[in-house]
Amino acid sequence: NLFMAYKTINPFNNEVVKEYDNATKEDINKTLEIDDKLYHQFKKQPISERAAILHKIADLMRKNEDDLAKTMVLDMGKLIGEAKGEVELCALIADYFADNAENLLKPTPIKSGAGDAWVEKQSTGTIMMVEPWNFPYYQIMRVFAPNFMVGNPMILKHASNTPGSAVAFEKVVNDAGAPEGSLTNLFLSYDQVSDIIADDRIQGVALTGSERGGQSVNKVAGENLKKSTMELGGTDAFIVTSDADIDQVMSVAAKARIYNAGQVCTSSKRFIVADNLYNEFVDRLTKKFAEFKPGDPMDPTTTLAPMSSARAKDKLTEQVNEAVKAGAKVQFGNKPIDLPGQFFMPTILTDIDSKNPAYSKEMFGPVAQVYKAASDEEAIDIANDSNYGLGGIVFSGSKEHGAEVAKQIETGMVFVNTFMFTLPELPFGGVKKSGFGREMSSLGLEAFVNEKLIVAV
Ligand code: NAP
Repeated sequence: NLFMAYKTINPFNNEVVKEYDNATKEDINKTLEIDDKLYHQFKKQPISERAAILHKIADLMRKNEDDLAKTMVLDMGKLIGEAKGEVELCALIADYFADNAENLLKPTPIKSGAGDAWVEKQSTGTIMMVEPWNFPYYQIMRVFAPNFMVGNPMILKHASNTPGSAVAFEKVVNDAGAPEGSLTNLFLSYDQVSDIIADDRIQGVALTGSERGGQSVNKVAGENLKKSTMELGGTDAFIVTSDADIDQVMSVAAKARIYNAGQVCTSSKRFIVADNLYNEFVDRLTKKFAEFKPGDPMDPTTTLAPMSSARAKDKLTEQVNEAVKAGAKVQFGNKPIDLPGQFFMPTILTDIDSKNPAYSKEMFGPVAQVYKAASDEEAIDIANDSNYGLGGIVFSGSKEHGAEVAKQIETGMVFVNTFMFTLPELPFGGVKKSGFGREMSSLGLEAFVNEKLIVAV
């Protein structure tokens, strides 16, 4: 029985801020009972009552933005400005589903010779969610807001290094007046997560995390015939075609890799640049990477955050060493930073051939790989030569040209001539080893509903 220790270790100075006790069997049983009652209670409640609570959650998040942001910074080290932006995004998501869920969930009529036919979208029961540390509130909100509106209670297992954020999110939900069981955070071992998934009262499993985490949890979901959504890793391409405006490209490229210390599933991990722009791109990206200033993530003037944990930094260090051993050239970076925290210098790797282990692995930190492409076709081939298929960016001379390239990329999301972003009305998710199912938008809202056919003659 593997017990993960839930603790906040400030990655800026390695101080242990707080440790938390694991959930007991009694905690789990009690939660499952409360949730089951709540599921039935929610069925009788007008959806507008939950909308009002969800708006209240958004208000509380905005009101407590500073404290909520600081909790995340202590847990996993993101920059305070980015943390505040995440809290605002969560409030936006809550408001969106509060305003739109009722309409999106209304029955859809079907034209049929059989009689009156329609599909109702009904709640199904308690959802187990397993979430990662990189966006400690946003990841929860993507599942919470839609499922709360649907009327599915939720149990949260957050990452073991972001327990402070898990507690803070749960508190906002409770303070807004959501009934007990709407969202219950439990500090669970992997075995306890499996036991919960196996319980008959659980009707769905939503996981965001790594390919390995997804495989383990989805195996348990499959054995127990539970529906799941898997939001996993990515090796997103950032394609620059030969007619792209290089100034526009450079205004986005560094941020697309370094945002959140490079620890985003949809970070641009592989820059694939047309050969006429390649040298200029590498020179200018090098200059941009050299400007990042490491420091205390609580200080708003800091531009390079530490990585989330010693483990994350060690893994990236090993991956870069392996890449270099296999022939990659360090164009910039890969030197130690003289600070006690988990800092990794922004690094640019070039000359990565398809046999290099770096070619096919996700590097979850501030390391950019740059490839050269002789044509759109070659750029698309390189982009698609990956087991992952999450997102991507294309910079092109026109929207139309960019969209043509975007259509040929095997991922769940592609953004043309812009930084990748996320909004509540846009679906989020991938294909291939990046997982399946979508979060946010009407698709995310319907992830765990019973699409119930009724035919009345
Ligand atoms: P991870 O190790 O898979 O952890 C994610 C969550 O899964 C954590 O709560 C973790 O708990 C839990 N977990 C892992 N194995 C489990 C098991 N066997 N049973 C129950 N729970 C288990 O992922 P990570 O490396 O921390 O997170 C980064 C990864 O997430 C990257 O690959 C990134 O691309 C991906 N990601 C994807 C998206 C997306 O939307 N597609 C968004 C963000 C991140 P512990 O912390 O206790 O181990």
